[in-house]
Amino acid sequence: MNALPGVNDATVVRDTLSRPLHSLRISVTDRCNLRCQYCMPEEEYSWLPRETLLTFEEIATLTDLFTDSGVDKVSLTAGEPLMRRDLPRLIHRLTKNRRLKDIALTTNGILLGDQAQALYDAGLHRVTVSLDTLRPERFRALTRRDSFQQVLAGIETVVRIGFPQFKLDTVAIRGFNDDELSHLIEYGTRVGAEVRFIEYMDVGGATRWSRDRVMSRQQILAELGREYGAITPIVDATSAPADRFRLADGTVFGIISSTTAPFCSSCDRSRLTADGMWYRCLYATKGTDLRTPLRAGKSPDELLEVLTKEWSARDDRGAEERLALRDRSPLVPASSLKKNPHLEMHTRGG
Ligand code: SAM
Repeated sequence: MNALPGVNDATVVRDTLSRPLHSLRISVTDRCNLRCQYCMPEEEYSWLPRETLLTFEEIATLTDLFTDSGVDKVSLTAGEPLMRRDLPRLIHRLTKNRRLKDIALTTNGILLGDQAQALYDAGLHRVTVSLDTLRPERFRALTRRDSFQQVLAGIETVVRIGFPQFKLDTVAIRGFNDDELSHLIEYGTRVGAEVRFIEYMDVGGATRWSRDRVMSRQQILAELGREYGAITPIVDATSAPADRFRLADGTVFGIISSTTAPFCSSCDRSRLTADGMWYRCLYATKGTDLRTPLRAGKSPDELLEVLTKEWSARDDRGAEERLALRDRSPLVPASSLKKNPHLEMHTRGG
């Protein structure tokens, strides 16, 4: 069996390591209504100029070109995607693209209470809510905002509507929420969501990152093993970033171990920023501007050629290269992030 989805499909473009162009994360705004310490710890930020933001029609046009090149899965992200006005309209437009098998949304959940029904009605059936703690005071300290109850209300709305696929993503941080992993799993069971623990990554924006704050996949498994006993790995051949595991009672959870056990060899995802820059690795410092040729009226064939050429040349293994470093510190200093907001995780969309 082939480990790389789409690899047998002749229309799929492959990179130098034979990884197909398969999954696209689309950031719809660089704005966020939280200031999480692991993502946006600074007091001030440089924002993308408004006139550079892609319209929904431009996003949809680029998505159509990506699906012509093999993409069949998109995830809407940001900053906070629900801060982009009228997002259901974009989702409705994307559902018209028959090549897209999967449209997902990653959100902090604050605005879900108001928007979940419209998102569902527009055709969104897969939602991931980022939730790092179940303690209001910790939420406030981490995010520097007082929105915990809104997040819980948003999750309840998702449950009430009955989205068929619902996940909770938790960044596991030593000395912050390492004592809450089992609580989060049990909360996930209560609301019908699979929980995925994400290792704290030293990406752009994470200027407070340090190795000793990372809770590794091994430590997460050890912690949960102490609580629940035997944990069984689930073997599947997808390129999904999370490795999945089963507890003795059948509960399934995932771990995304980009920091200590990266999945670069099967990484088929790339990222489009809200202003049309295309990055082929979360750690990449250089991307490709798709907005300028699009607005200059380049033909679909010319734009397709850009996608094919750039993906065919892709040799990024950013997370593996970071792992190989002896001294590992934050990827980009705050001063450089101010000059180039494209290097920020909240601009790339995570
Ligand atoms: N605002 C949305 C949300 O909260 O899901 C979407 C954007 S957010 C950047 C996407 C994901 O990236 C979230 O799950 C967040 O926790 C994660 N993230 C941000 N910085 C991270 C870091 N340094 N290490 C690991 N995960 C991080």
